[in-house]
Amino acid sequence: MSHPIAWVPAERARHASTDPVSRRGCREYPEGQRVTTLCGQTVEACEGELAWLWWTCPDCDDRARELVGAPPRPDVGQRS
Ligand SMILES: [Zn+2]
Repeated sequence: MSHPIAWVPAERARHASTDPVSRRGCREYPEGQRVTTLCGQTVEACEGELAWLWWTCPDCDDRARELVGAPPRPDVGQRS
């Protein structure tokens, strides 16, 4: 399954973006690239193992799931 979404760790969170990834065959953005996220921010991409441990931006998570038609996470939306 292929979809246009890539995850980008930036600003201490993992965001998702539909911006094209410039490196061929790579699903990550190079460090420092400015990326427009699904939650409407413009951030500079970070790289590194620690970056992937940051929390997932809930807005990007929701929108990414909408875009690929995935069901929402079971732990979201049941507390309100
Ligand atoms: Zn986000």
